[in-house]
Amino acid sequence: MIDRDKLYIDGAWVPSTGTSTIDVINSTTEEVMGKIPEGTAEDVDKAVAAAKKAFPAWAKTSVEERGKFIQRITEGLQARMGDIAQVVAQEVGMPLNLSTMIQAGLPVMTFGSIQQILSTFEFEETIGNSLVVKEPVGVVGAITPWNYPLHQIALKVAPALAAGNTVVLKPSEVAPLNAFILADVIDEVGLPAGVFNLVTGVGPVVGEAIAKHPDVDMVSFTGSTRAGKRVAELGAQSVKRIALELGGKSPNIILDDADLSKAVPAGVGGAFLNSGQTCTALTRMIVPRSKLAEVEQLAVQAAETYTPGDPFEATTRLGPLVSAAQQERVRNYINKGVEEGAKLLTGGPEQPEGLDKGYFVRPTVFSDVRNDMTIAQEEIFGPVLSIIPVDSEEEAIEVANDTIYGLAGAVWAGEKDKAQEVARQIRTGMVDVNGGGFNPMAPFGGFKQSGRGREAGKYGLEEFLQTKSMQL
Ligand code: NAD
Repeated sequence: MIDRDKLYIDGAWVPSTGTSTIDVINSTTEEVMGKIPEGTAEDVDKAVAAAKKAFPAWAKTSVEERGKFIQRITEGLQARMGDIAQVVAQEVGMPLNLSTMIQAGLPVMTFGSIQQILSTFEFEETIGNSLVVKEPVGVVGAITPWNYPLHQIALKVAPALAAGNTVVLKPSEVAPLNAFILADVIDEVGLPAGVFNLVTGVGPVVGEAIAKHPDVDMVSFTGSTRAGKRVAELGAQSVKRIALELGGKSPNIILDDADLSKAVPAGVGGAFLNSGQTCTALTRMIVPRSKLAEVEQLAVQAAETYTPGDPFEATTRLGPLVSAAQQERVRNYINKGVEEGAKLLTGGPEQPEGLDKGYFVRPTVFSDVRNDMTIAQEEIFGPVLSIIPVDSEEEAIEVANDTIYGLAGAVWAGEKDKAQEVARQIRTGMVDVNGGGFNPMAPFGGFKQSGRGREAGKYGLEEFLQTKSMQL
């Protein structure tokens, strides 16, 4: 049982002004594994005041000095990787080996990459008689989700601090314990008081208080499109900068000359990572109708290797979903798919055999999905793949783009050039070409209702900078 009873404000661990707490649930055992304070709007006021007070001095520090602090945070996180991986495997349910690599590894990599980004970033430029300088935005409110909890936090906190901003972080109340580990590390490295603050609580209270606070200069939000719209609405009242990383319904186009034996299993993997609780999950596999039977057979074969199980068993590839609410939501979508006439190839809404406890959902593959079906239009956030047959390349592109979302995508073709030509026509922020690997330094973000702005690498640093021109 991990009992965290304080918030981190102005360089100290302090009690919340409220008295309520939030239980953190282990997604595999369904038992309470921890408790955190349910913060209040008053806590946000205190944290924002501390961040505002700390800003001028922090903004004035040199890039080298900030880089050194971030280096120490990186080392602190690295030393705690085992704890981070364990706690996220319990909170979210990702298998421990993947959790170690992704949930603990990526935040270390993100903090660790800052030195390299800072060393090549152009903070100043001359245009005619003007000196153009990049300056920090000010007080940054960071609001983050539960699916890759510390990764989403690191993508905001590392560049925001490196750019000279001060931060008030509100992590997801569903998977918040990892954020306390980061706050412990930040406390240990002796970051000046008020530069980083942690206020836990629920979205409609703590999240909204941050979004509408007049002294918060920027909100960087990652989460659902629904909550992102609310944050943008509230933030507009004080014309703050709003960065949004939202949901997705990402297409995976497989052309008729692609190597199906590679493309289909990779596509299934791209849909099922973290039990499908991935914003970039490739949930719509768009395939030539002439190859449908072969694709179906390969997809079922691949899906059935994702046996749900305990995230702490070395052989498990698919953990539970994060919560009872998420499990229920995903099962409803599976039922909806059947009702709307999609062909259920494998999986289904029932609890997997042998697993009486835990928020498990069977790895599920539908075929003969039409793009206007609910399961092809709405973000499910579970291990559910929709195979959509089409009759031409043009139709594949049309179907890929026929969605309110525009986060990620993939294309597979016999020739890389051909796949790239199709990739250019997909209206999303990221596209993997013939299985191109994840690049943590590449800009990450969405078109359309998947968001606004970019995270990671130099684009992620730019996000937290203002531009000033001085006419000389
Ligand atoms: P969510 O929108 O429910 O919550 C995200 C965060 O916003 C949480 O901290 C929550 O407390 C807070 N929040 C909720 N309502 C709020 C409100 N009215 N005002 C202010 N804050 C509020 O999302 P979730 O369920 O935690 O995460 C899953 C969603 O996040 C999915 O839609 C997924 O696609 C998206 N996501 C996107 C990316 C990306 O980079 N594009 C990455 C990960 C997750």
